[in-house]
Amino acid sequence: TLTERLSSTFKNLRGKGRLTQADIDATAREIRRALLDADVAVPAVREFIAHVKERALGEEVSEALNPGQQVVKIVQNELEEILGGETRNIQLAKNPPTVIMLVGLQGAGKTTLAGKLSKHLKQQGHTPLLVAADLQRPNAVKQLEVNGERAGVPVFAPHPGVSSEHEDPTGDPVEVARAGLEEAKTRQHDIVIIDTAGRLGVDQELMQQASDIRAATNPDEVLFVIDAMIGQDAVATAQAFNEGVGFTGVVLSKMDGDARGGAALSVKYITGKPIMFASTGEGLDDFEVFHPDRMASRILDMGDVLSLIEQAERTIDKSQAEKMAQKFVDQEDFTLEDFLDQMQQLKKMGSMKKMLMMMPGAQGMRQQLEQFDDSQVNRIEAIIRSMTPYERNVPKIINGSRRARIAAGSGVHVSEVNTLLERFREAQKMMKRMAAGGGIPGMPGMPG
Ligand code: GDP
Ligand code: MG
Repeated sequence: TLTERLSSTFKNLRGKGRLTQADIDATAREIRRALLDADVAVPAVREFIAHVKERALGEEVSEALNPGQQVVKIVQNELEEILGGETRNIQLAKNPPTVIMLVGLQGAGKTTLAGKLSKHLKQQGHTPLLVAADLQRPNAVKQLEVNGERAGVPVFAPHPGVSSEHEDPTGDPVEVARAGLEEAKTRQHDIVIIDTAGRLGVDQELMQQASDIRAATNPDEVLFVIDAMIGQDAVATAQAFNEGVGFTGVVLSKMDGDARGGAALSVKYITGKPIMFASTGEGLDDFEVFHPDRMASRILDMGDVLSLIEQAERTIDKSQAEKMAQKFVDQEDFTLEDFLDQMQQLKKMGSMKKMLMMMPGAQGMRQQLEQFDDSQVNRIEAIIRSMTPYERNVPKIINGSRRARIAAGSGVHVSEVNTLLERFREAQKMMKRMAAGGGIPGMPGMPG
């Protein structure tokens, strides 16, 4: 994952006041790879990286973050801004009906979306009418009718009452769209959703047809539906539809698949049009308003790192962070006193556990994290408080008789004192590693 790559990239960076060009270049390489892995189109990647570099240069290094985390944060913010800068809802017409037209390649998910969107709008109190203007595929009208029925929304089809087997394949989709719009006006539907045909590839006839439907119905919204799994083809497809028909918003479908969703970024870059909805399954309710933050995380494949970072920044107080940072540099000085400090920081973090669990980099600690609870910290606190200051600062002198005394003083079994000292030694080792690599203050010494 990106997070893993970054922690190795930043092994030797630490304690600098500002992000340097070298820091940023190193991170940019990793980000570029992550974006390409996520199938973001090459020109979009290039432009994005340039933007991030510009923004990152000279940024102050935050207390709680190492340079890698810091650049990731900038990237995440930038992604969110780009993906969500203009997020908006369906624009309603001043004089109903509001006309929404769906365009996209065959199989993109238009007909499915028509059902979902109509249900969504109906739930908001609208009275949508679905219009079946895809006469290309033999079953297309029937498919829309099924979706409409499930959503409880009427469908205007070219030959009402006639089963789809007898559809006239030469029927004119432009006329159907126009007639559907008239029907909506007559029956006072306040929204019309026009489902159109797609082809497997971009073709001139298809574009002309969609363009004619657009001209005939003058839609308030033309939504371009694109399969999130489309990968590098996203650019060419989006460009073709943008130039051939034009659209006002984007819907990403099949977001339930394993695509990392680079298409979102590509389409946004190429067309500048807002991504409005995400389709996340075959069911009518597998539909959501687009969330730029989730998408950014998904593209970077880094769990919910941003919220983790924010929480860390909020929770770890400044002086404590500085003290800890110093300890990282000089790990020989790491004592039981510091260990206790860390435990208390951990306790303060409270919800930290949940967030750490979301972090790809924390996979290895999952089991330990799951077992972590405050009562353990309280016991550890009790044990350390039963030690003399000298013992806390020079733990290696804690021999058998001292252990017995400490156990008695804190009301625990000697074995618990042993476990604590064992854990402390591990934390010391971890500090050494963290001094060399990256890491989040507060992680070492996590009881398990
Ligand atoms: P159209 O040709 O653009 O109208 O695409 P359809 O709506 O007919 O969808 C094509 C196929 O993709 C159908 O089998 C749908 O069930 C499926 N599909 C559509 N949207 C989604 C989605 O968000 N997730 C999944 N898993 N399948 C979808
Ligand atoms: Mg269809």
